[in-house]
Amino acid sequence: MDMNLLTLARTYDSDAKCRLYLEELAWPDGAKCPRCQSDKISRIEKRHQYDCDSCRYQFSVTAGTIFHDSHLPLWKWFAAIYLMCESKKGMSAMQIKRTLGIGYKTAWYLCHRVRAAIQSVEGKEEARFVGEVEVDETYIGGKDKNRHANKRKYGTGRHYAEKATVIGAIERGGRVRARVVPITDTATLDSFVREAVSQKVTLIATDEHSGYRLLGKDYNHGTVNHGKGEYVVGAIHTNTIESFWSLLKRGIVGSYHKVSKEHLPAYVSEFEFRFNNRKNPHLFRDTLKRLLSTEPLPFEKLTSKKSQAA
Ligand SMILES: [Zn+2]
Repeated sequence: MDMNLLTLARTYDSDAKCRLYLEELAWPDGAKCPRCQSDKISRIEKRHQYDCDSCRYQFSVTAGTIFHDSHLPLWKWFAAIYLMCESKKGMSAMQIKRTLGIGYKTAWYLCHRVRAAIQSVEGKEEARFVGEVEVDETYIGGKDKNRHANKRKYGTGRHYAEKATVIGAIERGGRVRARVVPITDTATLDSFVREAVSQKVTLIATDEHSGYRLLGKDYNHGTVNHGKGEYVVGAIHTNTIESFWSLLKRGIVGSYHKVSKEHLPAYVSEFEFRFNNRKNPHLFRDTLKRLLSTEPLPFEKLTSKKSQAA
């Protein structure tokens, strides 16, 4: 079904309807006891639970997921996830708070849980990149000293006191993978590429950064020398990954205003996820499915460094 915010609100206007949909996604062949796999189960209407007739285990579709243990109604979770999936530039906790009329802390928590769930599955199932691949690194934040103080986009003080480096690989016409890295030495760049990119690629294009100099041993590696004003040599260029960097930076500036360095990896993952699913008409459904199969992230883990900038 083609989904927009209005059809979403109409279709899932109650917790019961949301729960039914989650059950469909979690148990496409009907509910089963997670402990003994029996399908002889009874529904306990009042508590949204099932009771296993064989082993008496009680369970629900949300138990052990991020939907559980939250005072937020399921339809608000649905709306928030929908907004986070569909918004091209991303949705900040502040926007979610306003749109759904929930507290900031709750909105912040919800956003981070959704991102963390997305992050924890991203990368595991994906095969290495093939075809023509571009690899590049970019810098986010930094001192920002050339702007007037009140126009500084990354904030001041502890946020972005230093630049953060992000490395990325992109398949032309395909997927992207991006990670925040502490440094850009050869070991870091080289191992990122080897993990992300199959040696069967027809081309891997980078700039002249010396960290990529060992790739030629195992890849068909072409470089352009940006330092010498060289940007495109036949098929060798990094224009595709640079478009992704622009999107990422516009998103961070436009929607998040400030992203603390600590949380940057989660934002980068979210952008990566949205980009890789840009042609997926079932993104909302697929995200719900991921959230159902992901361990919940305890609040303490998110707040351990006492940073709540989002
Ligand atoms: Zn059972």
